[in-house]
Amino acid sequence: MTYFDHNATAPLLPAARDAWLRAAEEFVGNPSSPHRLGARADGALADARERLAGLLGCRGSEIVWTSGATESNNLVFHHFAAVLPSDAEVWISAIEHPSVSEPASRGFAGRLRTIRADRHGLVDIPWLEEAMRQRPPGLVAVMAANNVTGVCQPWRHVATLCRRWSVPFLCDAVQWVGKEPSGEWARCDFVSGCAHKIGGPRGIGFLKCPDRSRLHAQLWGGPQEEGRRAGTENVAGALALVAALESREQSIRNSEAAVRRSWRERFEAALIQELPGTEILGQGRDRLWNTVAALMPDCEGPHRWLVKLDKHGFAASAGSACSSGREKPSPVLLAMGYEPLEAGRVLRFSSGWESRLEDWMALIEALKSVGRELRSPAGRGGSVRNPAAYCPLEAD
Ligand code: PLP
Repeated sequence: MTYFDHNATAPLLPAARDAWLRAAEEFVGNPSSPHRLGARADGALADARERLAGLLGCRGSEIVWTSGATESNNLVFHHFAAVLPSDAEVWISAIEHPSVSEPASRGFAGRLRTIRADRHGLVDIPWLEEAMRQRPPGLVAVMAANNVTGVCQPWRHVATLCRRWSVPFLCDAVQWVGKEPSGEWARCDFVSGCAHKIGGPRGIGFLKCPDRSRLHAQLWGGPQEEGRRAGTENVAGALALVAALESREQSIRNSEAAVRRSWRERFEAALIQELPGTEILGQGRDRLWNTVAALMPDCEGPHRWLVKLDKHGFAASAGSACSSGREKPSPVLLAMGYEPLEAGRVLRFSSGWESRLEDWMALIEALKSVGRELRSPAGRGGSVRNPAAYCPLEAD
């Protein structure tokens, strides 16, 4: 099976697996325990914290280990729900992941504003500049790179604006970290990330937060993480996350991303040529080297494409299209101005560091075959009118 769904989750990197196994065997104590085995585990965790902070460009004391980015994002909204005045607004971009948009709408109903995105999936900076001048909000959240389209957002610009107006800024960096250079995250007050998108294990993530302020914890029951997140720390997970990110940063320094970007571009050119009418979302904008969101020409929903692609040996996804179980078109695509039926025709291909040019080119052949099969009388299941009827479940 050739895997083109790395934005959902990535296979375990051998370096991360080794780090995890070594740590799980070596650091048997609980980092909070008073004995030497506890102290050794605590030392290993502190070492992982410093190494991660070094990679992110911040201080170790600013890192809180979490179970993943969903928890990290929820923690930020939980904190601000406790500290912001009751009339303070929260602004989030229209293309945020549900782990940002859902806690934001639950915690700030009636005072949540959405920062629009354009047809290319870019957040509206002129609107933000103007709105900030009028009345700055209590918190802004704009992601670094979008999980559906791969479009990189002007998060440094947003960070500068937020600093100017003394507005706390959360940047969900899940899809950026490990693909684009990390090292400038000190610009943001809060940054969320996780291991499993970059070859680390599932169940470990981080929140970078200002170390001068106390976070209102959402998990209680222990003094861990300076009272910011209770619960026995996942030492092996933290060391594996750092091992994965160190390896990815090395690949970035070796300019391996540029080569992969050119492969993605070759795939896109071939896709448009072989399946005329295909539209690449966010084309011409700065995008992650691994992500292609394609609006397919045929009126078939992505489900039929994905099932047939699977039979041809390719795992892809429908652009995180649906809200779990309720199966609505992706809010990201709707925010970009696509109609629900169009949003229901988007396929997402996301490669990994280990994917090769041959994999992209083999995917083209598979797409051509599937396109032919879907156009044949036997393959045609009739056009699907209701997008809710064919959206698969959200995976990332
Ligand atoms: N933010 C973005 C942009 C994502 O793509 C994901 C993926 O699932 C998350 C947050 C949630 O991360 P996690 O799976 O670590 O909870």
